[in-house]
Amino acid sequence: MIEPTRIEVHPGCEAVVEFDPDLTFECVPDCTWCCHHGVLLYGKDLHELAQRESLNDPVKQLRGRDFVRREEKDRDDHVDVDDHACYFLRDDGLCALHAEHEWKPTRCSVFPLEVHVEHGDIHVSIREEAHSHCDGLDVSERRLIDHLDAFLPRLLWELDDPTTKIEL
Ligand code: SF4
Ligand code: SF4
Repeated sequence: MIEPTRIEVHPGCEAVVEFDPDLTFECVPDCTWCCHHGVLLYGKDLHELAQRESLNDPVKQLRGRDFVRREEKDRDDHVDVDDHACYFLRDDGLCALHAEHEWKPTRCSVFPLEVHVEHGDIHVSIREEAHSHCDGLDVSERRLIDHLDAFLPRLLWELDDPTTKIEL
């Protein structure tokens, strides 16, 4: 049983950490599992995306929320079981937004973490599916808990609902 730990992630922004503090993470470039999903865009993400790309093709609205849409990719790897992946996932397995603009949506930074809110506090755990699909867990010396600011953008503390359960 992991004892939850309260950590200041950004000045004045605390999170309750619910995962093993010794857990390490380093993204494995050829994995791309987390890029098979449609990514929820917060208002600020939409604004920043519009400064870099046309919104017409990549953005889809569902239940009043904006998402990066998934599309069929003409390749065998880097796709989900239905041959679809994120619009911005390039054929070489890189994210076009990250590679060409050094930027990615807030929700892409959060993976493999999951955020939920309890009594007004942001709680952070490891996403359940990440244990079996994310190749980056426990393959390096880089402790997740030491780099929470890279995974949890300050924007999360400004949102009415920062929970990561909402998916396309
Ligand atoms: S699932 Fe994990 S290792 Fe794979 S691309 Fe995403 S963050 Fe990186
Ligand atoms: S925007 Fe980039 S990092 Fe985010 S899911 Fe799509 S390809 Fe992956």
